Amino acid sequence: MRSPFAAERLPDGRRHYSHQAVVARRALLAGLVVAGTGTAVGVHLGRGDDTAPGAVTSTGDTASAAVVTEAPSPPVSPAFSTTDAASPWVVVNKKHPVVPTDYVPAALSTVGGKQVASVVVPDLTNLLAAADADGLGLTLTSGYRSLSYQRGVHDNAVARDGFATAESLSARPGYSEHQTGLAIDFGSRSQPECAVQDCYQDTPEARWLAERAGAFGFLLRYTAAHTAVTGYAPESWHYRWVGVDLVRQMTERGVATLEEFFGVPGGPEYA
Ligand SMILES: [Zn+2]
Repeated sequence: MRSPFAAERLPDGRRHYSHQAVVARRALLAGLVVAGTGTAVGVHLGRGDDTAPGAVTSTGDTASAAVVTEAPSPPVSPAFSTTDAASPWVVVNKKHPVVPTDYVPAALSTVGGKQVASVVVPDLTNLLAAADADGLGLTLTSGYRSLSYQRGVHDNAVARDGFATAESLSARPGYSEHQTGLAIDFGSRSQPECAVQDCYQDTPEARWLAERAGAFGFLLRYTAAHTAVTGYAPESWHYRWVGVDLVRQMTERGVATLEEFFGVPGGPEYA
């Protein structure tokens, strides 16, 4: 059976999409067709590229029925880079370091005693106010971390836990999304001893974040179910600001990680 997305090849080499193909693709991009996320991982990792939002992957002449199982294409609007360290949709993981290595956000602001990229401030301020209104003691444990600071974090982790454990807990310098200023480690005023610890997940603040952070554009970045995809052990305190629009799109499609949503390789092995 011919895929509804298939293109006809015109004599001059250009591709012509039928009205049916255009309609089908629009429906797909609108999120009306939801593919299983399990399939999505395999397809995207197999493709092995850094598909930026806005890029529409042509199925070309080789399209077959198999394309029907393909995950939804990356969103087309609004388009933000997944590789530019200043982009709200940048994907930083063990396969994708911060570029350039010594990147520093152009604008940093201090919120809750920690530096964050200024672009995060409106949503972060609103999130903290909402948590405060709900009677929670939400704090910031970490925000922007420079390359040299991350080097210290990683070195300390290696010294304390050994190299293998440190690798699963702490990013190598140059590979931490904290360097973008878009990632935040939250804490708890009532249980400060649980900062950056597994017990944080049982604090009222962590439970509140799990439920509400998305409404402010923050994504729980490292979950227990996705360690193979993200390359990190679960961190109930680590949230990444991506904006409410992307959180909504990910929720609608039932995709939990940036890697799966954008088809960007991740995992525990460094590039
Ligand atoms: Zn973190």
